[in-house]
Amino acid sequence: MTEHAQEKVWRLVDLMHWSVEYLEKKGIEDSRTAVEWMLTHVLKISRVDLYLSYDRPMSREELNQYKPLLLKCAAHQPVQQVVGQADFYGFQLTVSPDVLIPRPETERLVEFVISEAKKRIAPFSILDIGSGTGAIAIALAKHLPLARIHALEVSPQAVDILKKNCRFHNLMNRISIFQEDVLNWEAPEPYDIIVSNPPYIAEHEMEQLPKNVGYYEPPLALTDRHDGLTFYRHFARKFQDWLLPGGMAVVEFGGPSQRESVEEIFHAYKDPEIHRDYQKDDRFISFFRP
Ligand code: GLN
Repeated sequence: MTEHAQEKVWRLVDLMHWSVEYLEKKGIEDSRTAVEWMLTHVLKISRVDLYLSYDRPMSREELNQYKPLLLKCAAHQPVQQVVGQADFYGFQLTVSPDVLIPRPETERLVEFVISEAKKRIAPFSILDIGSGTGAIAIALAKHLPLARIHALEVSPQAVDILKKNCRFHNLMNRISIFQEDVLNWEAPEPYDIIVSNPPYIAEHEMEQLPKNVGYYEPPLALTDRHDGLTFYRHFARKFQDWLLPGGMAVVEFGGPSQRESVEEIFHAYKDPEIHRDYQKDDRFISFFRP
């Protein structure tokens, strides 16, 4: 037999089934979604088209492109990093190992900020601390045309991704990016709204993170290398000056176990409210400068 005759022809449908089973055996959660992401990425088609092209044979080049992605995924690398893209609040973001992959929990925070800020009728300012991909800042800019946004990010590699995402969404004129460490920074002006999803995982919890998070996401975006509360203490001291009188802060935290500490840390502010995420876990706090 010639070499050619031995080559197995993979139809899309067969490859999908085989891959899903393979990833399941490796203990990958949501393996169907991961396979769909990788195949739409390699074939440059939509998810719907994937299912309309079931019988389509995979070319050798396509298989060669797909295989390394599948192996990374099998090694528990988050599929968003594998394909370099993530979905957030109905739009796409470029991601890399240098940024936190935006989470659905944070979509609830965005939804809340939008519903509050929509009440405003004059232009207003927002500060986003620790922007990463820009998920929060970009979602707010898209839905709040009156907002002018400052985005703070300490990591230069993350700033590159942040700029790329702002450019892609055509928001460079609405979002000003500053490469700064918020712990050594002073606000140039007080803001109407401050939002943040800071690194809130305690140092001692880092080892218990699921493999896909602990091995692959940037520690700088996950942990303060202390008790997880460093940023809240800093914010509590600073937001008195960084918020305009009556201004609102909305800050994500690490779930029910941090709720009491976070409430205590921000006790001097007005109308604190704890909000839950889609899993019904306490997830972010809103409060106002008196
Ligand atoms: N939500 C992320 C996680 O649970 C952590 C993000 C953060 O520290 N802000 O892995």
